[in-house]
Amino acid sequence: ASLDRIDAVDGAIHAFLHVDAEGALATARDVDARRAAGEQLPALAGVPIAVKDIVTTVGQPTTCGSRILDGWVPPYDATVVSRLRAAGLPIVGKTNMDEFAMGSSTEHSAFGPTRNPWDTGRIPGGSGGGSAAAVAAFEVPLAIGTDTGGSIRQPGAMTGTVGVKPTYGGVSRYGLVAMASSLDQAGPVTRTVLDAALLHELIAGHDPRDSTSLTAPVPPVVAAARRADVAGLRIGVVRELGGEGFQPGVRDRFDEAVALLTGAGAEVVEVSCPNFVHGIAAYYLVMPSEVSSNLAKFDAMRFGLRTFPEGVEQPSAEQVMAATRDAGFGDEVKRRIILGTYALSSGYYDAYYGSAQQVRTLIAQDFAAAFDQVDVLISPTAPTTAWPLGDKLDDPLAMYLADVATIPANLAGVPGISVPAGLADGLPVGVQFLAPALADDRLYNVAAALE
Ligand code: GLN
Repeated sequence: ASLDRIDAVDGAIHAFLHVDAEGALATARDVDARRAAGEQLPALAGVPIAVKDIVTTVGQPTTCGSRILDGWVPPYDATVVSRLRAAGLPIVGKTNMDEFAMGSSTEHSAFGPTRNPWDTGRIPGGSGGGSAAAVAAFEVPLAIGTDTGGSIRQPGAMTGTVGVKPTYGGVSRYGLVAMASSLDQAGPVTRTVLDAALLHELIAGHDPRDSTSLTAPVPPVVAAARRADVAGLRIGVVRELGGEGFQPGVRDRFDEAVALLTGAGAEVVEVSCPNFVHGIAAYYLVMPSEVSSNLAKFDAMRFGLRTFPEGVEQPSAEQVMAATRDAGFGDEVKRRIILGTYALSSGYYDAYYGSAQQVRTLIAQDFAAAFDQVDVLISPTAPTTAWPLGDKLDDPLAMYLADVATIPANLAGVPGISVPAGLADGLPVGVQFLAPALADDRLYNVAAALE
């Protein structure tokens, strides 16, 4: 059914960069046979899933939405993918994304944009617009995304799906092509909170192959999603993530969500996180710095594309590298490599990268102070609903503002969830909850209550 649905609608949506019908069917048949033989299988065995094309998969290409990796088929599976395979989930394909996960609209994919199933003239959010649109268009019930500054949660909000960024270190990064290693985290994209919890439980947990993987036990997210009880829970409305700059329809749905939670017995108070206003500025120094380093490995020798400079008879390795990176990377990726290289250069390092790291600490302190007062925080996931394709393409700064509410969680390493909260002018609105590190279960409890 999933493959038929993809055949029927993906021409209009373009959520997928690659579909592996044969592989998915083989897994499905294997699961059927094992079930028929009486084997006890994990809850999600046989449920089709799509994986963002920045996560490595043996036997399926992994392009990261970039020409530079066009045709590259990884020789190893990401840990997340190994766990999906071990649990019997058919991996139906790889989803479209902004190149190397840089963007908020999926328009920076080298393979053309994904369209929002709610209105195909609009963006699905980004960078994981493919995973979110695939779930929203009923092509798959589950998908994997990655969230460096909001790329799971913001597309979730734009497409009316549930998106979770787990606690940093909660899900292995082994096999995630790194964008910004200190911020990247993989997580579930689903239609319901319980589905997300089941998927979260499956992919989370310690992995010796990721040096930042946590050894703490996986938070009891499935039990929390089933509980859905906010009586007595203290919820903090973040003063800095609302008001001016947030679309009126988004604010209305947000206010309704708060009223609903209050009605269900939660105690809602306002909290202030004064340093959140510097989140975007700090992120756009830390992230490109890490990008400039992580993307240095695309050198025309090790992976994917190799382009020779025109009119040079015996080009040097450096000339081939330059020609390849020029042809293989898109404008947004180049912009960030240049920004990051500049921010890390001697003489500027302290002023830019150093100050950004200090702001990062202040943001973590804001979270700590807020979580002294409340159990979870709430805000709109994104300031606006999905915008028309092309609207912000010429204005990178306007695009960056789409992540104002999601970035603080990445900078501090805390978990966040975006849950659908109704429509504004016919387009989905998301509400975001944030919790202390390793308290991911709180997110599922409160999001399930709102759902
Ligand atoms: N939109 C943000 C950016 O462009 C976040 C991306 C992400 O989370 N991968 O960097």
